[in-house]
Amino acid sequence: MLKGKVAVVTGSTSGIGLGIAQTVAAQGANVVLNGFGDAAAIEEIRAGLEKEYGVKAVYSGADLSTAEGSAGLIAFAEEKFNRVDILVNNAGIQHVAPIEEFPVDRWDLVIAINLSSAFHTIRASLPGMRKRGWGRIINISSAHGLVGSAQKAAYVAAKHGIVGLSKVVALETAESGITCNTICPGWVLTPLVQKQIDARAAAEGKTVAQAEHDLLAEKEPTLRFTTPEQLGAMVVFLSSPGGDNMTGTALPMDGGWTAR
Ligand code: NAD
Repeated sequence: MLKGKVAVVTGSTSGIGLGIAQTVAAQGANVVLNGFGDAAAIEEIRAGLEKEYGVKAVYSGADLSTAEGSAGLIAFAEEKFNRVDILVNNAGIQHVAPIEEFPVDRWDLVIAINLSSAFHTIRASLPGMRKRGWGRIINISSAHGLVGSAQKAAYVAAKHGIVGLSKVVALETAESGITCNTICPGWVLTPLVQKQIDARAAAEGKTVAQAEHDLLAEKEPTLRFTTPEQLGAMVVFLSSPGGDNMTGTALPMDGGWTAR
């Protein structure tokens, strides 16, 4: 389905981004991996994609907390492949604290990685996409891009922000063959969420299994996690001809969280 396309997936050394990178590679896309982690483990992922799917995969450790790092990632991708067809803005971090105690440096960092980096990568990718008359920009927001939760001021602000940014990009590119959409996942069992489950178990004196159940029960009527592979499948759909006239949307994949 995506043979010959080039996909940049930010934050793809772990969790959702890794699942999306694997899913688009399985459809034949060449992939630019990005994110932090152990160098040997990242190389194993990169080489594994090439071996398993017969695509080309490269890795950049660009730090997306800065404008230079974010724009630099796109320059790196264009240098390696001459093009960026599919841009998935996925890198993100979380910090949990009441607003009066929210550390200012954490606010700045969450906004930089979860929101501003997408502005910078989109800004750098659009000229090439416009020239080729085709592009897919897919931003990974969250159910927290549509509704709030206490103690997540920076995260909720950034995730709402990215829904708005996507709408503006969709309008500005409407006649250019480029689409821009946002996916809003509910809970996905990745290291980012495991940390929150472990913290909850410790704080409330529960087992990890009980804390996991309570986390789901509080928000998701289905009582099930969304998987990185399901999110990857949505990226593939949005990049396929079926998604050609979908732009500016915010698509919940949240087990009914935002239906309440
Ligand atoms: P994760 O912690 O497993 O992965 C985050 C990725 O981002 C990693 O590859 C990490 O190295 C990378 N990253 C972090 N800081 C970076 C930086 N400065 N520069 C470059 N890369 C950086 O988290 P995840 O759960 O897979 O989350 C991925 C995205 O999905 C995030 O934007 C998150 O907000 C969103 N999301 C997650 C959930 C969930 O339940 N896990 C739900 C909704 C939305």
